[in-house]
Amino acid sequence: MSASPSLPRLVVVGGGILGTMHALAGVRRGFSVTQLERDEVPRGASVRNFGLIWVGGRAPGAELELALAARERWEAIAAAAPAAGFRSAGSLTLARRPEELAVLEAAVELEDAKARGFSLCSRAEAMAIEPALRGDFLAALHCAQDAIVEPRLALSALRSSLQASGRYRYRGGCEIVELGDHHVVDATRTRHDADLVVCCPGASPAGALAEALAGAPLRRVRLQMLETAPFASPLASALADGDSLRYYPAYAGPPREALGPQAPVPAAWTAQLLMVKRLAGHLTIGDTHQYVEPFPFDLCAEPEQHLVEVAARLLATALPPIERRWAGIYSEVTDPALLYYRAELASGVVVVTGPGGRGMTLSPAIAEETFA
Ligand SMILES: Cc1cc2nc3c(=O)[nH]c(=O)nc-3n(C[C@H](O)[C@H](O)[C@H](O)COP(=O)(O)OP(=O)(O)OC[C@H]3O[C@@H](n4cnc5c(N)ncnc54)[C@H](O)[C@@H]3O)c2cc1C
Repeated sequence: MSASPSLPRLVVVGGGILGTMHALAGVRRGFSVTQLERDEVPRGASVRNFGLIWVGGRAPGAELELALAARERWEAIAAAAPAAGFRSAGSLTLARRPEELAVLEAAVELEDAKARGFSLCSRAEAMAIEPALRGDFLAALHCAQDAIVEPRLALSALRSSLQASGRYRYRGGCEIVELGDHHVVDATRTRHDADLVVCCPGASPAGALAEALAGAPLRRVRLQMLETAPFASPLASALADGDSLRYYPAYAGPPREALGPQAPVPAAWTAQLLMVKRLAGHLTIGDTHQYVEPFPFDLCAEPEQHLVEVAARLLATALPPIERRWAGIYSEVTDPALLYYRAELASGVVVVTGPGGRGMTLSPAIAEETFA
């Protein structure tokens, strides 16, 4: 279906989750939308992540509000794109030490704990939610607001729902190299004019977009991930270990300061265990964080062994064999006053990027803010 010339035109550059959510927001507002992606199909952070719609750990105030708004929009959007695999599965953050339990106890006393869907579960209560959790932990923080999508399926599911509008066109293999007022130009010198151009190039902008973003308050972060063969036991909730309490702003405060130093391997890799059972049964396990460029090109076994051991201890069983490993890079805004980065590059041309490790979560609400 080709985009209709009589409607206001939106060109979206970038086929990741941020670009796709802008395409959806544009179609909803009556635009005729063309989405241009450098690769035939997107291969960036949006297909390499956990698919966690992670609300619980957000900072109080603006970040939590944006995450809650995004979660609501995700649910509505996914209703029209069931193949995205959205499920209100909740999460369990597991405390193995009394110091970690103290952080969970403080979390359920937060003023906004109810909005986050927080409740404290004893070991027995957590096992009643997830019988697969037979390992050594003391208690768990349940977050009812956290949800899961399937990152390897979500973008194509959302594109299919966009196609159904009759006002959307996707072009893979189309790299934008130049931009100017109300237009962008691709590598074949084809010019794409629009009333509004929204560029969502993720962590790997090139050409004019790289030039436009030079000096912006952004950095890149590299993560290592792995996936096992299918795990036989049911496991609906997303799981996190006590190390995750060190990284999410919701848990800041004296109990967190009393956690003591992190063990050497996870400390060296800024690692936490996050684990999601995919709809097809595989366990997605991560993650690590590297900030210094140039990033290594290889995947390192050390943090992987640590994360697999922690997961196996919580489940009290050996994990299925690892089937695949990968690294992903996201772009993160470095100005603490911002949740992501948006700038006007030319008249009618906007760039939106830098949501960091929360882009899968926040993207529907970020797209709404662009149009607002
Ligand atoms: C391993 C990992 C785990 C994560 N886990 C989570 C999670 O569970 N929950 C969460 O909320 N967030 C998570 N994140 C963060 C999240 O994945 C990112 O914030 C989000 O995917 C960024 O989306 P994006 O569309 O900006 O970027 P991308 O997905 O990288 O998409 C950008 C696209 O733009 C294209 N592009 C770039 N330049 C051009 C050009 N000049 N012309 C045409 N196309 C171009 C690229 O080819 C790419 O496809 C994770 C990230 C990683 C790496």
